[in-house]
Amino acid sequence: MSKILGIIGGGQLGMMITEAAKKMPEYISKVIVLDPTPNCPASQIGAEQIIADFKDKDAITELAKKSNIITYEIESGDSDVLKSVESMAEIEPSPETLRIIQDKFLQKTFLNKSNIPVPDFMKISSIFDLEEGLKKFGYPVLLKARRDAYDGRGNFKIETPEQIQKAYDYFNGQQLMLEKFVPFKMEVSVIAARNTKGQIKTYPLVENIHEENILRETIAPARVSNNVSKKAEAIASDTMRVLKGAGVFGIEMFVTQDDQIVINEIAPRVHNSGHHTLQSSETSQFEQHLRAILGLELGSTKLVHPTIMYNILGSKSFEGKYKQISLSESNVFLKMYGKEISKPLRKLGHFNLVANNEETIDHLLKNLESLKEKVITHPIN
Ligand code: ATP
Ligand code: MG
Repeated sequence: MSKILGIIGGGQLGMMITEAAKKMPEYISKVIVLDPTPNCPASQIGAEQIIADFKDKDAITELAKKSNIITYEIESGDSDVLKSVESMAEIEPSPETLRIIQDKFLQKTFLNKSNIPVPDFMKISSIFDLEEGLKKFGYPVLLKARRDAYDGRGNFKIETPEQIQKAYDYFNGQQLMLEKFVPFKMEVSVIAARNTKGQIKTYPLVENIHEENILRETIAPARVSNNVSKKAEAIASDTMRVLKGAGVFGIEMFVTQDDQIVINEIAPRVHNSGHHTLQSSETSQFEQHLRAILGLELGSTKLVHPTIMYNILGSKSFEGKYKQISLSESNVFLKMYGKEISKPLRKLGHFNLVANNEETIDHLLKNLESLKEKVITHPIN
């Protein structure tokens, strides 16, 4: 029986999930997204839209009444509200998994108890705790908001005792945790899937390059030894096993100077560092997510072509309508998200630069340089 899929969030991730759903009409007959922005990216490609805030209880209830199964593209949803509508629609990943993940302290406590490696961390409830934490961990450390952080805005790096008070005040009473700074060699991630029946698959390890805390490039596969990739993929599998959530998850990790792996954080949803799978892999992360939540056999995660994913971010110098971006190179796959307005560093689209037969990541990195200039946003005036 074909199902109606509800998605909380209709941005680019919801849009690409909708595209995957349209290719599976035998399983999904219709997609409805809940998103506050009229004409959101997913609605532009045919999803029905409920215009409301992600945490609006009435709107979530309406979505649950209209859908057979609900998933999400953002982790800031209200897990209590989601729990309250579980009798109306199946919710995947479960609100309980979401509840653990959306609080960085609960998430790390859970991982630590499950023997999954994370940086040293502790809960901070007062400036006294912070001073004690610094005695224990030394400098530098990161003071982090436990919830609703994104693009690094919920982090404060403390490097000297003089910064303690400033860091503490920065968060204005939010719930906090402290984490030892990891002088990592590389930031990497694994896209992992678990279906409702417990089948688990991981995609090969990829390398992530950030700029100002925003993902800029993903290199698939990561330029590390086979040993490191296998270790990271095994940790991702273990994580999926203990978390028991169904769906695709993005698991961000650090490779330390001595080639150990520690988890930075988990996103209980399709992830920006998995966009390369649209062209590089036998199954895209979006199709895989649907297979996982529908309880279908998971697709192959084989990486067929080395690929670099490059995020197209709004230029820092203006906000407003921007000139259309196009690329005509044969091994470049451009995806714009249909956002009319450019804002500084806003994610407007991405492209995948895919290797031909003989090409290596080094070739791709060289070719990438000339493409970067072509995707700079310029105002229309
Ligand atoms: P995002 O929206 O990118 O997921 P976020 O706001 O949830 O970000 P984190 O993922 O916790 O924040 O951290 C953002 C970046 O800060 C990481 O990608 C990493 O570069 C750096 N970072 C976070 N924790 C640590 C750590 N313990 N040691 C070193 N660097 C860290
Ligand atoms: Mg992060």
